Amino acid sequence: MDSEDDMHNANDAESMGDDDNYSSNDGDCEFNINLGFDLDDVLASRKQQTNYIVLQGSDIRRRQENDITRVSTVLCISRAAASILLRQYHWSVTNANEAWFADEEGVRTAVGLLERPVIQFQNAKELTCGICFESTPVDRISSAACGHPFCNLCWKAYMSTSINGGSGCLTLRCPDPSCGAAIGQDMINLLVSDEDKEKYARYLLRSYIEDNRMAKWCPAPGCEFAVEFFAGSENYDVSCLCSYGFCWNCTEEAHRPVDCGTVDNWIMKNSSESENANWILAYAKHCPKCKRPIEKYLGCMHMICTPPCNFEFCWLCLGAWTQHFTNSSSCNGYFFPVANQKGESDEIERTREMAKMSVEKYNHYYERWASNHSSRQKALADLHQMQTVHLKKLSVKQSEPESRLEFITDAWLQIVECRRVLKWTYAYGYYLPEAEHAKRQLFEHLQGDAEAALERLHQCAEEDLQAYLGPEPPPSDFVDFRRKLTLLTRVTRNFFENLVIALENGLSDVDSSKTATSKSDEDVVEVAKCGGVRYISEMDTND
Ligand SMILES: [Zn+2]
Ligand SMILES: [Zn+2]
Ligand SMILES: [Zn+2]
Ligand SMILES: [Zn+2]
Ligand SMILES: [Zn+2]
Ligand SMILES: [Zn+2]
Repeated sequence: MDSEDDMHNANDAESMGDDDNYSSNDGDCEFNINLGFDLDDVLASRKQQTNYIVLQGSDIRRRQENDITRVSTVLCISRAAASILLRQYHWSVTNANEAWFADEEGVRTAVGLLERPVIQFQNAKELTCGICFESTPVDRISSAACGHPFCNLCWKAYMSTSINGGSGCLTLRCPDPSCGAAIGQDMINLLVSDEDKEKYARYLLRSYIEDNRMAKWCPAPGCEFAVEFFAGSENYDVSCLCSYGFCWNCTEEAHRPVDCGTVDNWIMKNSSESENANWILAYAKHCPKCKRPIEKYLGCMHMICTPPCNFEFCWLCLGAWTQHFTNSSSCNGYFFPVANQKGESDEIERTREMAKMSVEKYNHYYERWASNHSSRQKALADLHQMQTVHLKKLSVKQSEPESRLEFITDAWLQIVECRRVLKWTYAYGYYLPEAEHAKRQLFEHLQGDAEAALERLHQCAEEDLQAYLGPEPPPSDFVDFRRKLTLLTRVTRNFFENLVIALENGLSDVDSSKTATSKSDEDVVEVAKCGGVRYISEMDTND
């Protein structure tokens, strides 16, 4: 009988260290040690992310100023000219300098930096403006490096129109139709209103990110940070200081372990199916037992019908909750129906059948993708509520310093991250070919395990915690709750790490990881049933 040993080996090697510590400390201080490890993991994973940096407004300004200074010093040109040149070369100092030294004449012509005027008026007192054709005293005439004369009023109107027309003002040229002389910031600042000066400066600053091949704005609404990304990494997921995670490559929300192409296809699919998709989300569900309409207000998929029914079921598949995770592929997996074998004459019928099947398949994946999305939104709101209200309340109620309640924040952060990963695995599943049986099997197994763990964690953080916040005496000791939640957090993280690694390897590991996770799934069942107590005592005996 080797099941006991298997159960422990099944936990991945990384967590063994934690387990040893966990079981060798039977006293009160064990939780501290355990929490310490979890936090270290979080910190370590943050340190790994060195393939990008987040730039704030002041960083952007400083870097831009430095780059302009470098180019203007090396090439002996004005700062305004240097910024025109840099913009042309996507703000790469190296490329700008190299191009200049390779072919200064060519570069000057291309960007409109003339070396000498094309027209000169010596000792003139008045000149005719090339726009309004008024004869104007020379002190109210201005011209770019080319020398074409325009009165200051006409310049102001010309520049203002351009500035208010958008970022195109950064490539503004002399108004003379035959002339390509560039108009730089120095000249703009002499002639336009303060408001327009500011607008121009803003476009110039934005250009440092928008015309830069190494940097992008964070796409979160209202966020003004940018992210600079260093080539050489396959993982494009970045996390902005505003806490929004996105894919640097396609700027959709972070979608690891699913690639950008799949995400793009899926988003296009959703918009082409928008009618169908809206119908799925608006569709009123009914309790599978008493048939009353039900409404979902919790983040996890565990539903309890109102009294007197009290039936517990899964929001997604409407299956009874008690049997829900006994067969792990029952909720997440899609069963391709066997097509009707009809005669060739029934071509229309077959086409109709195929269309129906394709809609059903889409519905299956879309509903799960969308449900995990909204569940994540709910979890984010709950996390915020936890940090701003509940932790303080709990700290008083349980006489624990807030620092000892960080395991709750950790749990919620884990839930938020896992909902995101789980959501995208449903887009992955949609595009995984039906014919790849072994891969589909492995995928649905890993996804099912991860999902089961996450549902337990989410339920524990959402429903179980309520008992310690309300006026009623809680069903069990807070210490038990802490154990259960901490353990579920860790177990869930392991399952999701397995899932992410497997998908990023293209499910190439078709044979090996299957048995490795099914045993630890049983551990989770034990944790969920017994508040973690039995799981821990088993580990103790193994020690
Ligand atoms: Zn004029
Ligand atoms: Zn000109
Ligand atoms: Zn941001
Ligand atoms: Zn992407
Ligand atoms: Zn009911
Ligand atoms: Zn289900």
